Amino acid sequence: MVSWEENVRKVVPYVAGEQPNKPGMIKLNTNECPYPPAPGVERLAAKMDCGAFRLYPDPDAAVLVDALAKYYHVKPEQVFVGVGSDDVLSMAFMTFFNGSKPILFPDVTYSFYDVWADLHRIPCRTCPLDEDWHIRPEDYRQPNGGVVFPNPNAPTGLLESLDTVEEILRANRDVVVIVDEAYVDFGGKSALPLVERYDNLLIVQTFSKSRAMAGLRIGFCIGSEKLIGYLNDVKFSFNSYTMNLPSQILGAEAVRDDAYFRAATAKIVATRERVKGELRELGFSFPDSKANFIFASHEVIPARQIFQALREADIYVRYWNKPRISEFLRITIGTDEQMDRLLSFLKDYVKRYW
Ligand code: PMP
Repeated sequence: MVSWEENVRKVVPYVAGEQPNKPGMIKLNTNECPYPPAPGVERLAAKMDCGAFRLYPDPDAAVLVDALAKYYHVKPEQVFVGVGSDDVLSMAFMTFFNGSKPILFPDVTYSFYDVWADLHRIPCRTCPLDEDWHIRPEDYRQPNGGVVFPNPNAPTGLLESLDTVEEILRANRDVVVIVDEAYVDFGGKSALPLVERYDNLLIVQTFSKSRAMAGLRIGFCIGSEKLIGYLNDVKFSFNSYTMNLPSQILGAEAVRDDAYFRAATAKIVATRERVKGELRELGFSFPDSKANFIFASHEVIPARQIFQALREADIYVRYWNKPRISEFLRITIGTDEQMDRLLSFLKDYVKRYW
């Protein structure tokens, strides 16, 4: 190692999902929405004034913050936005997890958490899920420097009740508790109402899944004014202009069209429930997902093999494994037509084994 390399911050990066772009392919690997964003977004995008791109965007992203505050019935001072919820989460780790005790999160969970912990030099400890893949709230009673978990969890898709969330909060009044609700709009119950009673609770959400805007990179969080104030101090010490102008304007428009949002998410939920039934008949099993994906394994055929066969048919899902323990396919819920193509491929494929 040459001498300057000793001073390099060495990290093992998160591996983002593949973004292939083949004509005719079915992309079910990174939990994007199969439907376009709200129609007003397209209208506004088409008449966007490119002259405005000369200028820096509003560093406070007020148009988007105000739209979110109005929608979620909180004060603008309780809302923080960032470049996808990954940006918001990373910023929150940096802001709130500065103690010497380990932060706690489940195993398994979103695999970015331990990457941020490593990046920001935060000690961490994982709490194993129970045999049904659920979070055990009693594990979060040990001394810690903070807590973070997704609800629904990823990649299982399992939702914890608000009672469980509150049980964890009650046991952790002295640290910040982050609930990552990236998938909450697909049938989950947000912990947002608890923000009023717990000034140490931070709810993180994203436009990447339920609002069909992964490409614009919009994430946000809601918490007490005090929490959001500290987050802003760190953000403005890091990069004043995190959020670009089109994302601010188009994001705010997406929030305004509640009817479209509700219809699109309801459609995905209906498709998910139908697909669950069909996958079960084909010999798949999975936790009862309340997210926009299903985390499935087959009783006979190894997941890796199915994953490869699907890929060759230009159907992309995510392969997940824990070496020597288990392997799964994480299948994003697409349109009905896309899911029909997936199911008809699987039917033929499975038949050859039975
Ligand atoms: N949290 C969880 C649990 C996720 O699965 C994802 C998507 N990979 C994110 C946060 C980040 O999403 P985004 O940065 O697109 O908002």
